[in-house]
Amino acid sequence: MGGTLTKTIWQYSEPLPEETMAFLRGIALDYNKVKNHTYKRYAGIKSLGRLTPAYDIMGEMRHSGIRTQLGLPSAYFDPAIIDAVADIKGMWGMLKKKIGILITANENLSSEDRMYLRTILRLDKVYAAVLCHETFELPRNAKGLDIDTERLNSLLCRLTRKYLARPNTDSADYFSIAPCGYTYRNGMICIASRIPGKRIALPLKDDHICTRQIRLCIRKDYAALALPTETRIRKHADYENTIYIHIGYRDMLTLSNGNVYGQSLGSMTSAETQRLMEKNSARASMHTAHRRSSADGDREKADLIKRCNLGTEKYRRNKEKQRAKTETFINTEINRMLAAEKPAKIVITRPVTVNKTKLPSRSANRNLTRSFNGYIRERLSYKCRLNAIELVEISSKGTGNICSLCGAEGRRMPDGFYCPDCGFAAAISLNGAKNIENNYIATKG
Ligand SMILES: [Zn+2]
Repeated sequence: MGGTLTKTIWQYSEPLPEETMAFLRGIALDYNKVKNHTYKRYAGIKSLGRLTPAYDIMGEMRHSGIRTQLGLPSAYFDPAIIDAVADIKGMWGMLKKKIGILITANENLSSEDRMYLRTILRLDKVYAAVLCHETFELPRNAKGLDIDTERLNSLLCRLTRKYLARPNTDSADYFSIAPCGYTYRNGMICIASRIPGKRIALPLKDDHICTRQIRLCIRKDYAALALPTETRIRKHADYENTIYIHIGYRDMLTLSNGNVYGQSLGSMTSAETQRLMEKNSARASMHTAHRRSSADGDREKADLIKRCNLGTEKYRRNKEKQRAKTETFINTEINRMLAAEKPAKIVITRPVTVNKTKLPSRSANRNLTRSFNGYIRERLSYKCRLNAIELVEISSKGTGNICSLCGAEGRRMPDGFYCPDCGFAAAISLNGAKNIENNYIATKG
């Protein structure tokens, strides 16, 4: 079976001299400025119609003078714009999804109203014209509907204004390099500098070579390079089952057939949550001691505390090490599940996106598994594509509190699910997985 999938390989530089690090940081800073500049010009409500092709935007931006003003080589300038435009498009994608949900939920709309609005949302050119109050030709689907287009158009404008986010970035620790901006020589990657014809050499730890746009991430005293590579999609002739999976916080994957994969994920992450909590509370009291010594004018003591007890280096390294360990575990368990269950199709629930606008709590005193939920979904989806497995997402409605045996409303107890109607008892995750199976089969007829 043909088809390939893009995969990222990480490549690392040797430790780099401060001069080189300063150069990289300078490029990253300007890259960030170009991105923010692009957001400012093209992320507004009236700019939807100007987003494609990105090629035009690149031309306009080049003429805007910002490139010469910053002195940024085009090998970095062009990718910054493409990067920013992709973010803006992603933002419109999320906005359309959000408005779609609001349209469905709005009881003041008739089914013809909804059909009109959905048609507009699907066609960027028409949607853009509505937002700019320009005249446009009614799309074929929307002709002959019994609707008040004025009212619907202004509703659409109102919703868009209300929910359109303004992207902005202040992470100046990475940039992308176009293929024309780098070459390889003697185990080094030589990247464009601000002086034409002169290149900066970064010695590499391995001899991977790339011909596409790469991303350079700045670490403390070295660079990490993300190289896109193509992997062949594997189709397995013997994968023919349909499986239904509940993705959980304690057990990672529970199948409706009763098999569980990633059983110790919960204890793994709660141990790490515990460790971080203790660590952070110790650090908090050190912060207090530091503040007190500073206030008392005891500079020597304050400096000592800062150096020995409040360093971020080791703290961050440990946290990253734990994270890497958990990610390896997640990947191993997904692979084990695929090999054992041989699915042709996997059914899961859509992620619940309520309260998405709320910022996640920054304290470490939260369940770490929750932060891995997105990672699990992402890896599952990637491995499905890689193995030519169909991944279906259904609504999570009625998969939590309903008894999977009799359909009555049950109770979620600390030790599992219990149905007072028929007496069915099972793990909450297993009941959830069985409900996913029931709901999927019911909608299939
Ligand atoms: Zn029941």
